[in-house]
Amino acid sequence: MSDYLIRATGFGGHVRAFAARTTEVVEEIRRRHDMWNTASAAMGRTLTVSAMMGAMLKGEEHLSIKIKGGGPIGQIVAEANAKGEVRAYVTNPHVHFELNDKGKLDVSRAVGTEGFLYVVKDLGLREPYQGSSPIVSGEIGEDFTYYFAVSEQTPSAVGVGVLVNPEDRAVIAAGGFIIQLLPGTPDEVIEKIEQHVAKLPQVSRLIGEGLSPEQILERVLEDVKVLSRQEIVFKCTCSEQKIRDILHGLGKEELTSMIEEQGEAEVHCHFCNQRYHFDKPALQDIASKIE
Ligand code: ZN
Repeated sequence: MSDYLIRATGFGGHVRAFAARTTEVVEEIRRRHDMWNTASAAMGRTLTVSAMMGAMLKGEEHLSIKIKGGGPIGQIVAEANAKGEVRAYVTNPHVHFELNDKGKLDVSRAVGTEGFLYVVKDLGLREPYQGSSPIVSGEIGEDFTYYFAVSEQTPSAVGVGVLVNPEDRAVIAAGGFIIQLLPGTPDEVIEKIEQHVAKLPQVSRLIGEGLSPEQILERVLEDVKVLSRQEIVFKCTCSEQKIRDILHGLGKEELTSMIEEQGEAEVHCHFCNQRYHFDKPALQDIASKIE
């Protein structure tokens, strides 16, 4: 099976858990944006969290994550929905540093540590849910552990990782887990989880060794019950028609001056890197349909 995630419970229902393998979607986004290694790791970790947070939603609900840490990567944006459809981009994909003193990609240096992470969930209500928390380490996993604690009041353990081939920059393995304590979790269960998480090797290494999301949860929890499995796929929501609608929405005056001054338009989708080109007759056609 390609990329997928699972929703599960552990310890007799005292905790809920998510685990995901995202290797192929992270590689697809990496290729679309020609990302360098540290940027791929930062994007892939964020995308993996977004996919698992998407699995906390239902129906048509969807969410957007934005991380602005003040580092050279700029901002990281990832979007996901309850159907396992994800997309992501970073402001500057060409970011790479030497490995840090732990021999890992220096994600913190790329992301920065001065800023916030923002979560917006469209739950079909009039106002979207908005949450945010300060960035604590810029390593993404720790930042979301902190986010869940302070913004959603849910004690959680978040582990995410991306393994990149230094030769050709290809993503070899990506994935992660989120463990969340439910109200009334006994202290001995919390202690066990803390011990297991502390002993766990890098999650990207486990994925690289071929462990499934199920097997990763079994390393952290006892009595794992898988509630559902879902495929994770890259999907962008842009289309030529949507860009046409945006150009239409500029209004006759602005579009006419664009035709006169530039004679064409090129609109670029940040998420999938697709470029939409409109020549003069195409723009005139759109302008002629504006009332
Ligand atoms: Zn797109």
